[in-house]
Amino acid sequence: MGPCLSETELISRFFNFNIPGQWPTQGIGDDCAIIQVGNRRLAVTTDTVASGTHFLPNADPYTVGKKSLAVNLSDLAAAGADPRCFFLALSLPKSDSSWLEAFSRGLYECAKEFACPLIGGDTTKTAKIGHSQAPFSITITAIGEVERGLTRQGAQIGDDIWVSGTVGDAYLALMLRTGQWTGTCDSYLAAAMDTPVPRVALGQFLSHFATACADISDGFLKDLGNILVRSNVGAEVYVDRLAVSPQLARRTQEERRQAQLAGGDDYELVWTAPESARQRIIDYAQKCQENGQPLLLTRVGKVVSSGLKLLNNDGGEIQNTFYGFDHFAQENV
Ligand code: ADP
Ligand code: MG
Repeated sequence: MGPCLSETELISRFFNFNIPGQWPTQGIGDDCAIIQVGNRRLAVTTDTVASGTHFLPNADPYTVGKKSLAVNLSDLAAAGADPRCFFLALSLPKSDSSWLEAFSRGLYECAKEFACPLIGGDTTKTAKIGHSQAPFSITITAIGEVERGLTRQGAQIGDDIWVSGTVGDAYLALMLRTGQWTGTCDSYLAAAMDTPVPRVALGQFLSHFATACADISDGFLKDLGNILVRSNVGAEVYVDRLAVSPQLARRTQEERRQAQLAGGDDYELVWTAPESARQRIIDYAQKCQENGQPLLLTRVGKVVSSGLKLLNNDGGEIQNTFYGFDHFAQENV
């Protein structure tokens, strides 16, 4: 067995083939690949959700179905794409009809809401190997259409950094459900973890002027970090400006920071935009009410030339000991 690699290392070392193709594309490294086909531009993404990694083995299949598509539509949202269709590949240990009925209902509801039909896929039965459980995963490939196509590249020095919604709630839910933190996972937190709503309309709005965008699947710092690396810039982030839910606000500062900076699974968007776009963003937030309130869009920092500084409200620097999620980072192996 060779040494273990991080997710980023393994992709760049073994799967960055760099073969020139017939279709001009934006290579590996963004939430979606952007493909120019004739005079149209497609955004394509694929994401797997696996039992034990992305959903707890006893999770409600209805929410697993909904979330499987939602996480893919969230990548389309990060590209500013309008969802068009998707493929579904199922790897199942058994064909349990009640599980499948609820799963397909959840999947259908998300597909219907975003007018995104299922147009193909693959179904495989998986087998047990020794005493370990048979693999159980759902892979979706989603295709959308873009005018321009937002990527993680393009953030400019001096740009504002913005985040939608409250981040950290899905991580709080996970910590409470797995008993790692004490307290109860209420219905708001359960929904944050089980049925995230992809920010499709917001992504399309941002595609007209944002300089870079990513969805927050692996944690705010990791996903902002992806923008900084791809754009070859740095950032100053005022961490206490990150919008916080009442549930997370009640936790200790340590827990709150852990959940907001490193916790994944939020499926909010983080983007950079020039200062000149501020009023446009504020007006949009006012126009798009959510639960009777303006949409929560928060300016949390600035793009600088290099490095990542985390600051508290007084401008004091916070030691950055928070990391987002890497599937193959040493601590997760
Ligand atoms: P996301 O979290 O938005 O799905 P990731 O950060 O996981 O994206 O992936 C980073 C980039 O690496 C994406 O462009 C993705 O398409 C690409 N990628 C991930 N795994 C592989 C792989 N096995 N082969 C080729 N590209 C990959
Ligand atoms: Mg993504």
